[in-house]
Amino acid sequence: MAVALSEARFGELDIHPDIFRAISDLGFMAPTPVQDRAIPILQEGHDLFAQAQTGTGKTAAFAIPILEKVDPSLRHPQALVVVPTRELALQVTREFGALGKYRHAREAAIYGGVPYGTQDRALARGAAIVIGTPGRLLDHIERGTLDLSHLSVVILDEADRLLDMGFAPEVHRLLRHCPAKRQTALFSATLSVQVRDLARRFTHEPLQVAIDPEKANIDSVEQVYVEVLEQDKARALDELLRRFDTDQVLVFRHTKRGVDGLDQRLRKRGHDVAAIHGGMTQRQRERVMQRFRDGELHVLIATNVAARGLHIEDISHVVNYDLPEDADVFTHRAGRTGRAGKTGVAITFVGEWDFDEFDELREKAGVPFRKEALELYSG
Ligand code: ADP
Ligand code: MG
Repeated sequence: MAVALSEARFGELDIHPDIFRAISDLGFMAPTPVQDRAIPILQEGHDLFAQAQTGTGKTAAFAIPILEKVDPSLRHPQALVVVPTRELALQVTREFGALGKYRHAREAAIYGGVPYGTQDRALARGAAIVIGTPGRLLDHIERGTLDLSHLSVVILDEADRLLDMGFAPEVHRLLRHCPAKRQTALFSATLSVQVRDLARRFTHEPLQVAIDPEKANIDSVEQVYVEVLEQDKARALDELLRRFDTDQVLVFRHTKRGVDGLDQRLRKRGHDVAAIHGGMTQRQRERVMQRFRDGELHVLIATNVAARGLHIEDISHVVNYDLPEDADVFTHRAGRTGRAGKTGVAITFVGEWDFDEFDELREKAGVPFRKEALELYSG
């Protein structure tokens, strides 16, 4: 993928040769701006609060310094990365694996919805880096299978999503199990008051890195809305999928039932479509994600929770089939399209009950919206 790169080179950052080699294997040409600025700060041991839009390489920005810092010969967790979803836990773990392939530091992915056995064994083997979701991490602590008392680094990744998903109390409890003397860094796509507050509570004199104003994120995204009766939404989506030149499309709905219902209706109309939500097993979700990444699926329908933080590249259109719950969600969702110079389109369905709420959201989002008429209603 083509992420925006900084002027700098990896060679100018003082990166451990083993990791430098892995970076070259991955084909990364130059650090992204957040990597360029965050890596030296973390290498010097400071706390950090970093904001950069989705898809700008925040994972490597903390993975590289962590891989340099941990001692693979010590058989206890030295670094903890807290993420909001299991998909992210797996994604971040893969990135550690790729960047650390010449370092031999073990990592363990810890998330719910799967049996404990594999995770217990990964931890017992002596994982130096633990990447996980708050609930399951706490479960392991209570079961005595995870000991955080020797950590030296804690990362709160996707801090804005951790908050949106109501994980603040769990994060708080987790951090009480970590040594007071440690390095802490927060990474976030957005800079809400709540994220700043989280940073204030959990970091010590953090240095700040803010790459792009959040709006730049959605400037390359065309925001479109359509007025459509609730009962006509599936037909409207079908029409737009035919009319618009779409590559891959991500559709958001509020509930699992809504996701499944729409999945069936679009399938009947002959679309290559699949659903992803929290009611599915981890295996099922991974299989769907793989099919989407492989380009086998044209449309993916997701609940907000399931879709959070996933890196799905080359999405041309995002559809808010149900109105998003807050204006931040516009920014975040739209951030999934329109990456790397391509223009993406975010389409919001405004139903007959949604007018007031939509006006409010639109005002808060502070970006222009274009109204698109449906053929459905022009006959
Ligand atoms: P974020 O956490 O900021 O949303 P990620 O860390 O998931 O973004 O990175 C997005 C993608 O960019 C990943 O596929 C990652 O491997 C890739 N990437 C990261 N750093 C670079 C780089 N310096 N050059 C090219 N690609 C990169
Ligand atoms: Mg990330």
